[in-house]
Formats: sequence, C-alpha cells, structure tokens
Amino acid sequence: PVDAPLLETRGLCVAYGKVEALHGIDLAVPAGTIVTVIGPNGAGKTTLLSAIMGLLPSRGEIRLDGAAPRRVGIEGMVAAGLNLVPEKRELFGEMSVEDNLLLGAFQRYRTGHRDQARSMEEVYGLFPRLKERRRQLAATLSGGERQMLALGRALMAKPRLLLLDEPSLGLAPRIVKEIFHIIAELRRRGVAILLVEQNARAALQTADYAYVLETGQVVLAGPAGELADDPRVIESYLGLG
Ligand code: ATP
Repeated sequence: PVDAPLLETRGLCVAYGKVEALHGIDLAVPAGTIVTVIGPNGAGKTTLLSAIMGLLPSRGEIRLDGAAPRRVGIEGMVAAGLNLVPEKRELFGEMSVEDNLLLGAFQRYRTGHRDQARSMEEVYGLFPRLKERRRQLAATLSGGERQMLALGRALMAKPRLLLLDEPSLGLAPRIVKEIFHIIAELRRRGVAILLVEQNARAALQTADYAYVLETGQVVLAGPAGELADDPRVIESYLGLG
C-alpha cells in the first residue's frame, strides 16, 4: 500500500518467561517522521525497540511498508533499513572512532561500498567533533561524544528508520540540545526516527507524534504538540517547569 507507514505494530506482545512486559502495542511510524515513546522506568520502552528490531521474540504483527518483513530477525530488519542505537551505545572501546564508524557500514542496507567514504564525510559533517577525534579510541570519548559516535555508526548503514533508545541519558543539557538538533536534521534528510525518551519535554518538542507507555500499554497517543498540552502529560511527565 502506497500510504502505509514505514513501520507498524499491531497487538505486539513480549513476555520474559511467564511475565508479559508488553501487552498489545499498536504503533505506527510514517516515513520521514519523528515518533516518540515516553514513559517511566520499566514501562517497556527498551523491550519495544528490541522486539521491533527482532532481538526478542514477540507475538502480534510487525509490518514494514504495510507488509510482513521479508526476513525476520535482526538481519532482516537491518536489510529492510532499520537500525538501532542502544541505550548502552555498545561501542568498541579499544577501536578508534573511525573504525567504529566503518563497522557501521558493514550493516548497510543498500550495498555498495563505493559511497562508504561519502557516508563517512556526511557523518563527520554532522559531527565535526568525531572528525577531530577520528584516531582516538572510543573508550576515551566523553559521554556526549560516545552518543554521537553511536549515532554516526548507525548512520553509516544508511537507515530509513533509526530506533533511538534514550539518546539523552546521562548527558549535560548543552549536549542534549545538540543531540536533539541532530535528530531534527536527520528528519530533514528523510530519515524516520522512533525515539524512546525519559526526557519528555525535549522529545515532545522534537517529535511529530507521541505515545505514552505505562506498564506495557499505550495509555495516551497523539500529535506531540497536543500531548505536550495535555494536563495528564504535564502532571506526570513535564512537571511545573
Ligand atoms: P528503562 O527506562 O528503565 O530502561 P524501559 O521502559 O525501557 O525502562 P524495559 O527495560 O523495557 O523498560 O523493561 C520493561 C519490563 O520488563 C520491566 O518490568 C523489566 O523489569 C522487565 N524486563 C526487562 N528486561 C528483562 C529481562 N531480560 N528479563 C526479565 N525481565 C525483564
């Protein structure tokens, strides 16, 4: 279907042993948009991203462009243009910044390494700090630089949809601003983003559409601007500030 969303889940359920952590999630990410999932600790946000990425078994439907994925599991999702930036960043500390980026290119969804150099220049254009530090070991980077490297590595795969797990976690406010600026820039370049965040204020300011996840269920959903004005969201997630 022409206007089917890039990603859609219907009745997605995930259980850890006998304990169900996600109870039937319906969610959609249209191409080229930023969709955010906010919610408290333990709501199931990381579980949701892992299930979509094929890293955890799930029940229910995951659809890409309106159809079942051609291949299941992580390789199938990467091949379809999805890429995950995990909360822990998962960089190779004993490798240089540049080698970490090159590893990202191996996950490319459209093959052809001729434009690997061009992708690298694009990433360095977005993150000049990474270019300055390209020979430095990843383990020696600051928290903000590590997040930039994790984002840059995912971008080397030329994804259509980036799944971001709490990209602002543990970062100074100035760096958080920079990261959200980059996220908005990626949308301008046509990359769709599914953004999981505890920083509800910044997430709602940047996203087009938002879901509130509590104890494994979507309790509210709507255009991000409308949710930011919703008294329930203000009370639970935005405080008085
Ligand atoms: P946080 O922001 O703290 O990471 P979250 O919203 O991402 O929270 P999840 O990490 O997805 O939440 O966890 C959802 C629920 O599933 C929690 O109750 C958690 O304890 C449970 N859970 C997560 N991972 C596992 C696991 N590997 N085994 C068993 N239970 C798990």
